[in-house]
Amino acid sequence: MPNVLLSLGSNTSSITLNSVGLLTFGVDELMQAGQMPLIVSSLYRSPAVGPGYQPDFYNAAALIKTSLSPLKLLKLIKQIEHAAGRRGALFWGPRPLDIDIIDYNGQVLNWRRSHGPGGVVAPGAIAGWRPLGRGKVRPLTLPHGEMQRRVFVLKPVAEIAHKWRHPLFKLDANHLMALCCSPLAIRATEKLEKFWQV
Ligand code: AMP
Repeated sequence: MPNVLLSLGSNTSSITLNSVGLLTFGVDELMQAGQMPLIVSSLYRSPAVGPGYQPDFYNAAALIKTSLSPLKLLKLIKQIEHAAGRRGALFWGPRPLDIDIIDYNGQVLNWRRSHGPGGVVAPGAIAGWRPLGRGKVRPLTLPHGEMQRRVFVLKPVAEIAHKWRHPLFKLDANHLMALCCSPLAIRATEKLEKFWQV
């Protein structure tokens, strides 16, 4: 069965649950739907990046085994986010629960190589690779198109998936962090306790 790395995040409460409760809800729902979590990382807390004041983000990563195709898994994720109280969200805005597919068994989907004029590699692209689509208009991209820039994804992934390598960039989570993330963001993302035991 395919191994899948997921990233979970929350920075607002629902009527009944705070952010940590919502992350637990997310993992529980995945399990109820037959997506067995093999390992779940500790919690990580980081200041929100985005418009206006927002509460801190709580994040975690989970490694699951799934029998669902990538698109069916994404559909299930949308259902779980909705059940957690999510009703659409501003790009980079506050959200009760966000679940992203970070890696689906090493599959590569919807990336392209882009070179600027004269064959110059576009800024921010590693070896010229860029995800298709921007902002909210994004086809399912595997591995996740922005993960290499997100400390709150890379730190928990480094904790639970030592052997994982980015399928395109061939680097592990710690190397990606050193290459693509600011030292300030790395310092600001704090490891907390375990919140879910397999
Ligand atoms: P958000 O919930 O704000 O993370 O955005 C979700 C949208 O991003 C979905 O409608 C997906 O089509 C798109 N998307 C693209 N790649 C991924 C991915 N690897 N995991 C989750 N959503 C993705």
